[in-house]
Amino acid sequence: RFARAAGVGEGAGTGTLPGDPAPVLEVRGVVKRFGEHTVLRGIDLTVHPHEVVVLIGASGSGKSTLLKTVNLLEQIDDGQIFLSGADISDPRADADRVRARIGVVFQHYNLFPHLTVLANVTLAARRVFGTPRAEAERTGLALLQRIGLGDKAREYPDRLSGGQQQRVAIARAIATDPELLLLDEITSALDPQLVGEVLDLVRELKASGSTIVMATHEMSFARRVADRVVYLKDGVIVEAGPPEQIFERPERPETREFLRRLS
Ligand code: ADP
Ligand code: MG
Repeated sequence: RFARAAGVGEGAGTGTLPGDPAPVLEVRGVVKRFGEHTVLRGIDLTVHPHEVVVLIGASGSGKSTLLKTVNLLEQIDDGQIFLSGADISDPRADADRVRARIGVVFQHYNLFPHLTVLANVTLAARRVFGTPRAEAERTGLALLQRIGLGDKAREYPDRLSGGQQQRVAIARAIATDPELLLLDEITSALDPQLVGEVLDLVRELKASGSTIVMATHEMSFARRVADRVVYLKDGVIVEAGPPEQIFERPERPETREFLRRLS
């Protein structure tokens, strides 16, 4: 649907074979500072099509900042970030166009309260891509039906439960068919009994082939759904690997210690 902006750095040094699709996301040596405080200290992360990568780590370890750098909400101080082979950290990259290719859901304040559920879901298609209203609404309604919220299309967000609101936020994030989905602690503000319905939806997205990077404290979800778990500590990736490695036989003492404290 979207022309892939090929070019700068495509395939260079990525270890991929000719003909392999470019990774959806490639973060190379990313450094982010806030004043004197270095929050990301040389992050390398490659995410392939259809992969679900889960970021874990203590509060303040840099998970949100990493997701924000990918969405160009924070400027990086060093390194590079590639989206489907194109260098989006290049200052000449068009941030709005990059963001249009990435779906994002945060912990809080995802929906516009003055717009109906359907208007929230169709907003980006209409505003960013100029999709005609009727078409955007058809697509939006189908999406809401798929996630079991078709009957809420004309409601305002405050009439929905927190779990329903987050499911709408996810629907909105995927309505324009983004290449990459970034989910930042999307269940952290929810009552425990509402967490499951949101995580079930993420699992469905994975089954339908979405490429997802998500930060979460839901370790059992990470264990069941992640293709790869990345443990961040103080802005460094201490260990990354399949969930069986991270949760059952972590190679690094810091990872063991982090998980031990949680249990
Ligand atoms: P996490 O999401 O893993 O909890 P964050 O990425 O939110 O971690 O934060 C990492 C570190 O960066 C923390 O020490 C936090 O205080 C700091 N930080 C985040 N955003 C800002 C900001 N806008 N200005 C200054 N410091 C920030
Ligand atoms: Mg965070």
